[in-house]
Amino acid sequence: MSFDLKKIVRPKIYNLKPYRCARDDFTEGILLDANENAWGPTQKELKDSTLNRYPDPHQIEFKTALANYRNKTSSFKQIPDVLPLTADNICLGVGSDESIDAIIRATCVPAKEKILVMPPTYSMYSVCANINDVDVIECPLIVGDNSFQVNEIKAVEILNNDPSIKLTFITSPGNPTGVKINVQKIEYILKNWKNGLVVIDEAYIDFCGGSTAPLVTKYPNLVTLQTLSKSFGLAGIRLGMTFATADLARVLNAMKAPYNISTITAEHGIKAVQDHNLELMEVNTKTLNEEKIRLVKELTSIPYVDDQYVGGLDANFILIRINKGDNELAKKIYLTLATKCGVVIRFRGMELGCQGCLRVTVGTREENDILIQKFKETVQELAK
Ligand SMILES: *Cc1c(COP(=O)(O)O)cnc(C)c1O
Repeated sequence: MSFDLKKIVRPKIYNLKPYRCARDDFTEGILLDANENAWGPTQKELKDSTLNRYPDPHQIEFKTALANYRNKTSSFKQIPDVLPLTADNICLGVGSDESIDAIIRATCVPAKEKILVMPPTYSMYSVCANINDVDVIECPLIVGDNSFQVNEIKAVEILNNDPSIKLTFITSPGNPTGVKINVQKIEYILKNWKNGLVVIDEAYIDFCGGSTAPLVTKYPNLVTLQTLSKSFGLAGIRLGMTFATADLARVLNAMKAPYNISTITAEHGIKAVQDHNLELMEVNTKTLNEEKIRLVKELTSIPYVDDQYVGGLDANFILIRINKGDNELAKKIYLTLATKCGVVIRFRGMELGCQGCLRVTVGTREENDILIQKFKETVQELAK
C-alpha cells in the first residue's frame, strides 16, 4: 500500500502555479506596482501605518517560529523518520474554518467524492462539505463506554470499502467530548488507509499537549490543523494553521487567496509565537486546567448532575450529564441560566452519546464561581 498525493489532490489544483505577486520580485523602493494607494489610509488614525499596502502572502517569520515551537515541544522527537518541521510544512488560513474548507476543495470532486466524520464532532466539517456538494459518511466514536475514542478498525473498513472517500476528519481533543484521541489509533488509520488524507483537528491541543503536527514528516497522508483561537486566546484575529508535507503545503498555499492573512492578523500572530508570549500561553493553559478540575468537582457534586463528567478533560471545556440523560431538564437548566442568570453555556443533548449533556467552557475564577452558584440555584428551583 503506498500513498500518492497526485491521486488525492484534484489535478487542476495539484498543477496550480503559486500566485506570484508584484512584491515577490521587488519589495523596496518607490512601490508603484500593485495599484495600492500611495497617499495612505484615509482613516486619520492609521495615517502613519502601512495598511495601505497589501500584506505579505507568505508569513515566513510566523511560520518559522511556530514550526520551531512545535519541534521543541514535540512528543515524537525520538521516533525514527520524524524530521523537524519547517515553514515549508505550513499553510495559514482565516481560522481553521478556512483550512477545513480548503482541504475539502483541494481533494473532493463535488457531487462525486466524500468525507468521513466521527460524531459527536465539530459541525464545520459537514457544513463545509455540504457547501461544496460533498457527501458526508459517518463512523461514530465509541460512545457506549463514555471513552469517545475513535473506532479505528471500523473506520479503516469503511474507508477501504469506499474509494470515493478522500478525507477523514478526527477532532483531537474532541468537541464536544474533550477527549484526546490515542495516537496509536490515528497511526493505525494512517498506516492502513492510503486513498486519502487523515485530518487531525487540534484546535484544543495545547490544553493537553502531544500534537501530531511533527508526524506529518513521517506520514504523507497526515494533515494537522491548529488555530490561535483557543489556547492563544486570539479568536478575534482569525488565524489557523495547517501542517502537512511540503508537497501538500505547496498545493494549499498555491490555492489560497494570496492575501488571506491581513497585516493586522499577522502582526498579532507573530507576537503570539514569540518566546515570552508562548510562555504566557503555557502558564495560562496550566492555570486554566487547574480551574477545570475545580469546576468539574463542583458541578458534578450538585444534585441532578451525574457524578461522573462525560468524555475527557483534555480541552478548555467540560461535558456534564444531567440526571442520567434527562434532555428536558438539561435544556431547562441551559435556558434558565441564559435568560435569568446571564450565564451562557451550551446544550449538547442532541449529539450522539451526549444525551442530557451540557458543555461548559472554563471561565475565569470569578466567572466560574458565579456559574457554580447560579447552577446550584437553578437546579434547586427547577427540580422542585
Ligand atoms: C473552536 C474550534 C476550531 C477553531 O476554529 P477557528 O476557525 O480557528 O476559530 C476548530 N475546530 C474545532 C473542533 C473547534 O472546536
